[in-house]
Amino acid sequence: MPTRSSVAVDTVLEELIVGDIPLFIHPGWADRFPWLLQGTTGALPPEEPFDLALFGDHASSGVIERWDRIADASGFLRVVHSRQLHGCHVHVHGEGPPGFELAPPGDGHATRAPGVLLAVTVADCVPVFVVDPSRRAVALLHVGWRGAAAGVLERGLEVLRDQMASRIDEVHMHLGPAICESCYEVGAEVFEALDLPTPGERDDLDLRSVLVARARTAGVERDRISVSGHCTRCAGSPFFSHRRGDPQRQAAFLGVRP
Ligand SMILES: [Zn+2]
Repeated sequence: MPTRSSVAVDTVLEELIVGDIPLFIHPGWADRFPWLLQGTTGALPPEEPFDLALFGDHASSGVIERWDRIADASGFLRVVHSRQLHGCHVHVHGEGPPGFELAPPGDGHATRAPGVLLAVTVADCVPVFVVDPSRRAVALLHVGWRGAAAGVLERGLEVLRDQMASRIDEVHMHLGPAICESCYEVGAEVFEALDLPTPGERDDLDLRSVLVARARTAGVERDRISVSGHCTRCAGSPFFSHRRGDPQRQAAFLGVRP
């Protein structure tokens, strides 16, 4: 049983904003893995929100144009995304036809095909980036507490190991902008679902620490794990937050450049 909130990692990163698109990237990975495109979009000012939510009741004008803008700026031939279900299905993508592909519902994507850009949307849930530099294989996961309980993190690692021949002790993992412990009070049932010691009443949950502990259990090396310094909900956050009441979503992107 993992302990809660007890796992620290050595690197807590402040991501950088780059380009015309508000993309917060992992600066260490940008230096070490220049063949990757990786990052999470930001919210931008309220009068011009950079919303990428394709599903749900809320329909934002300009959302398709924003996805197109990212596809064009990225130089990638193909962008893949899914309606997310807080489950554990991880899709594997080959080269495929160019354009935007809406894959069947799922919460993760993996590929080793250059030019295929993986995308998940988030607003408090954790975008989990996994990279195997030796095989140039990547996985991108959308992980809230339900997905964590369903095992989507472990499933993503299994897909890399079983279908991309990755060694789990060689992968690098980054947990992107997500809700922090002090902003995330949850009921005892959430602790129970995550196999954590159950508090008597509602308590704060550090979901990213839980995921770090799970990744360590699955064999990811501690010094290859990093966690964004950003909370999506804290005051002044440059990201959308579901708990703050934002209907919009940012998107995380990961792919091997063509
Ligand atoms: Zn916070």
